[in-house]
Amino acid sequence: MSSSSVLSPLSEEADTRGAGAVRLKITEIFLSLQGESTFVGWPTVFVRLTGCPLRCQYCDTTYAFTGGAWRSKAEILTEVRSHGVRHVCVTGGEPLAQKACLTLLGSLCDAGYVVSLETSGALDVAAVDARVVKVLDIKTPASAEVARNRWENLALLNAQDQVKFVLCDRNDYEWAKTIVGQYALASRCTVLFSPSQAELPARTLADWIVADRLPVRFQVQLHKLLWGGEAGR
Ligand code: SF4
Repeated sequence: MSSSSVLSPLSEEADTRGAGAVRLKITEIFLSLQGESTFVGWPTVFVRLTGCPLRCQYCDTTYAFTGGAWRSKAEILTEVRSHGVRHVCVTGGEPLAQKACLTLLGSLCDAGYVVSLETSGALDVAAVDARVVKVLDIKTPASAEVARNRWENLALLNAQDQVKFVLCDRNDYEWAKTIVGQYALASRCTVLFSPSQAELPARTLADWIVADRLPVRFQVQLHKLLWGGEAGR
């Protein structure tokens, strides 16, 4: 993929082409258990949008960078409904790279689902429907994308929202502790600390958090414990 196509969000024209319908480029829609966030363990439908302008070195969804298929919003809502669960997670890739994602989020809320949005934290979340629970990454130095953090987003978080740090080493941990204090994140929303699976042993991170009595929630990716890296789980 060329650098220009990596950095450009999918265009509004492309999102809405075809009989004026709202369309999104979708990598996959599937039913699983939520493996992260405060919703961990709930049966959840995942709507994975195609495309991401970031390149975190530990990314486990590189298959969502390209490809995918255009689907109308109506088709997406019908497929979500067919799974028969309350929780829906809109993820990617970086879902906000497609402007029509905002419309989809609103429609899912209107339909009565408990909706969460997994976002890299690099794009503006101001226009996200207030009913959506934002799970916003803060990219650490070892992610290779720390320069992409959009710090203005932190002022837009509500008490229901969550920030997530994926930590690769002790330096990341110390950096994250500083950010949590600097922005008073623990008093603003839920703060999640996760180990980067191949880089930091989960037990090591757990021991650090306990020793420091940090006001954060440790988490590992439940879906990886259950199913490894199996696609669509
Ligand atoms: S923001 Fe998410 S999808 Fe994009 S490169 Fe980073 S980990 Fe992968």
